[in-house]
Amino acid sequence: MNSREAFVVEAVCSRYCSYYKPDREEDTACEGFKFFQRLSSQTPAILAALRPKQSYAFKDCYHHLLYHALCKRCDFLVDGCDFTDPNCTGDPLPCGGYIAADLLLEHSIMHENQLAETLISEQGYIALRDDCVLRHLESPYLYDITNDELYELDQQGFEFLTACNGSRQLAEFPFNKEFLETCLKEGLLVIGPRKDLRHFKLRPSPIPSLRYLELQLTSRCNLKCGHCYLGEPTKRDLPLAAVLSVLEEFEQMQGLRVLFSGGEPLMYAELRALNAVLPRYGVRKVLLTNGTMISRKNHADWCLFDEIQFSLDGLQKGHERIRGAGTFDTVVDGMDAVREKGIPISIATMVHRHNLEEFETLAKWVGDQEVLEWSIDVPCIAGRLLENLDFLPTPEEAAPFLRYATGGSYHGADEPFACGYHLCTVTPEGAVLKCGFFDKPLGSLKDGLETSWKRIRPVSLSNLECASCSHLLDCKGGCRFRAEGLLGKDPVMCALYGVMENT
Ligand code: SF4
Ligand code: SF4
Ligand code: SF4
Ligand code: SF4
Repeated sequence: MNSREAFVVEAVCSRYCSYYKPDREEDTACEGFKFFQRLSSQTPAILAALRPKQSYAFKDCYHHLLYHALCKRCDFLVDGCDFTDPNCTGDPLPCGGYIAADLLLEHSIMHENQLAETLISEQGYIALRDDCVLRHLESPYLYDITNDELYELDQQGFEFLTACNGSRQLAEFPFNKEFLETCLKEGLLVIGPRKDLRHFKLRPSPIPSLRYLELQLTSRCNLKCGHCYLGEPTKRDLPLAAVLSVLEEFEQMQGLRVLFSGGEPLMYAELRALNAVLPRYGVRKVLLTNGTMISRKNHADWCLFDEIQFSLDGLQKGHERIRGAGTFDTVVDGMDAVREKGIPISIATMVHRHNLEEFETLAKWVGDQEVLEWSIDVPCIAGRLLENLDFLPTPEEAAPFLRYATGGSYHGADEPFACGYHLCTVTPEGAVLKCGFFDKPLGSLKDGLETSWKRIRPVSLSNLECASCSHLLDCKGGCRFRAEGLLGKDPVMCALYGVMENT
């Protein structure tokens, strides 16, 4: 042992390490020890500042930073270190090097950048995780695409994350230790080798921001559901060039999530070509399908989506009554195929007259399916439902089942506006609509998505006939299409909240 090693053993191991044995010679040193060896050659005075252990309570406030910097590089990680071994019971302490490094951070004995440089030298490039993007919406945000989480940021955090483009080392710029620790804990930032420079497509979004885009790729469909609001299909596909251009514009507008729908999107003639370029777009891609065309054989058509939502309107009897004979088993097979590929699934269900009796059993069945979301709605009177009004339950019959819905995330739920505040739909004809139900277009793709979106007139909650309803902040007036007039009450939501007519 040379004199520097002896100094580290005395200042760190003997004082801080619960595994230290005075006479033991180790063949391999842990990363905590190696860190203090490096530090003692660079800045010996800092070691002298280490206080006696008794005066310092180890809080592990920098767990994620130290785990990245020390443990991930340590020869004892998991196999040999109780602290990082998930099978180790009790509350094992880390090595003395880890504890002493925590002390330096906790008491700001060493400048953060200098610490980062010593801890994480050539491997210390810091980058936002590939599936996270920054967004300049009404305020700055980080969007985790895979987990569909939106984090609001202050300006300082936003600027720090903008600089985390994979080409800069942590030690190169000032950072807030607590903020960095939170980002590492949530897995939003990664520290490692240099990466390709990442360009964030940042500019202020329009206000209100357009966060969700329903893109109807085609109006063609292989089914003829009795409640289909689209009615008879026009057999149109949105040209691939228009799809790519609207995706690019949506991303530039700081959009978050694209819902690829139809018709049945698997009937889109250029689906293969679309899949080939999907990874280019930094948005969450959700496929909305009737599920009958998804199979293991055509996985190349759907395996790049972040989530696949299946329409399922009951168990076999209820589902097939409205969607056609033989459709239930194909949907269930499709769900299995998607699950095998590790893609999260969700289910969308319409309450109708022929699934009321089986809804309880359906709820148990869905509960066993491990779905991200079960969205439940009541059909709106439009399209083919106009010829099949006997499918429609009364609001009082349908409303109790809306409470079975689970999961789902809508970012911006606190804003005082009615439905669709951050949403629009593009049809296969290229029309831009407030949502799929409103047929008076805001504009067309020829005008541009942003130009069309800026024509939207958000419906303020204070203007609704519901303005005095005690449930307004939860209900938000329900669905504006189903409501009696654009500013009226939604009878299904009134039934759900027990609001009587004329109140
Ligand atoms: S706590 Fe364990 S894994 Fe981490 S540096 Fe110390 S010995 Fe290595
Ligand atoms: S509801 Fe969906 S699956 Fe059924 S006919 Fe309409 S577009 Fe096709
Ligand atoms: S009108 Fe109905 S369908 Fe359209 S966005 Fe509002 S809730 Fe959704
Ligand atoms: S419960 Fe009825 S009245 Fe109340 S906010 Fe909802 S739709 Fe309006």
